Amino acid sequence: MVKNLYDHFIVLYETILPTNPNLASEHALRQEDEVYNKSNKLTYRNAVISSIARLKRRPKPDSASHPSVGTEGELVAREESRKSLDSLRITRDHLLPLLLSMDDMRNWGYIIDMPDGPGGSNPNLEGYTMKCERCSQPYMVRSTALADECLYHYGKQFSQKVNGEKLRLYTCCSRPTSEEGGCVRGPHVFYETDPQALHLRHAFSFSRQPVNNEPSASSTFADTALEVAAIDCEMVYTTGGMRCARVSVVDGTGSEVFDELVRMDDGVEIVDYITRFSGVTPENHAKAVLPLTSIRESLDSYINSDTILIGHALDNDLKTLRMIHSRCVDTAILFPHRAGPPYRRALKDLVKEHLGTLIQAGGGSVGHSSVEDSIATLDLVRWYILNKPVPKRVMRQANADGK
Ligand SMILES: [Zn+2]
Ligand SMILES: [Zn+2]
Repeated sequence: MVKNLYDHFIVLYETILPTNPNLASEHALRQEDEVYNKSNKLTYRNAVISSIARLKRRPKPDSASHPSVGTEGELVAREESRKSLDSLRITRDHLLPLLLSMDDMRNWGYIIDMPDGPGGSNPNLEGYTMKCERCSQPYMVRSTALADECLYHYGKQFSQKVNGEKLRLYTCCSRPTSEEGGCVRGPHVFYETDPQALHLRHAFSFSRQPVNNEPSASSTFADTALEVAAIDCEMVYTTGGMRCARVSVVDGTGSEVFDELVRMDDGVEIVDYITRFSGVTPENHAKAVLPLTSIRESLDSYINSDTILIGHALDNDLKTLRMIHSRCVDTAILFPHRAGPPYRRALKDLVKEHLGTLIQAGGGSVGHSSVEDSIATLDLVRWYILNKPVPKRVMRQANADGK
């Protein structure tokens, strides 16, 4: 019977087996175990046959995280957790315990204090010599950047054991980091983190104050800001450093309320759309009409200083929006990297691990969608609220107390 199940898992998993060779045997064993536990001597045989009939009706998966992958019990459990996730409408009360403290924000590089001066006086650094983020060489910032002057790796470094030897490799091309050069060519680019420098490119401002909600005879105007919002930005490289090119906001139910492309400030030219990561292309970005200042005014309809903002590495989104905001929930901090700060786990990996779904899966030229990412971030927070994993430091403390 296990062999029978295995044969049908082999057929079902046809397209994903080359990359997941053990899946059919593992799932056949687990499926047989499920059937065995739910049947007796008399019903076992028919239960397996029914199970195989249902296997044959499943749509063929195109990836290991497709809903068709797994035993019947696993499929049902996944469906149930999806339903409970979808039915949870996140409110302020859920999130208050998860808010970052001022210390958290400071440690993770959030900007808390307004930098000096009015800001915005030096939006682009054309003609300046800057250090390239990619190849670490100094270069002259130009609006008409040569598209192939920089040789670099677009991936990250990771460690892998090869024949017992630990190697540092790049995720983009699996070449060792000890090798010279890179795997792709593009323009030199720069990226600033110093709050004062960012402030000179485009001024920071606080998220707006709530309006007085008390109804008066003269006005029925009430604050439209959301209690909870998940936000994500896509960024591009420009002559003024890394800038926001797209902003998406979803509300506490996961419904999209805002999704706009951002026009660059006057004089600031995009030198690399990094479509692979941003999903922004020259063609779709040509439609951007609102500059960041107008985008911020539009965001005022949804976000005030009381709104709890949810994001993944939210400090980056707030920096690129030049927004100073103190009520933040950050999934990169909620689901820590085991190496501790400053390491952060990728949103894509957390979503795959906890929600069993794939995002940013387009690969190649498709890149991210900030709407998809902000919904995924919200879902991760929902998962966190429903499953409430005990924070590691609390467990350690409990162990130390001998509990
Ligand atoms: Zn590479
Ligand atoms: Zn370079």
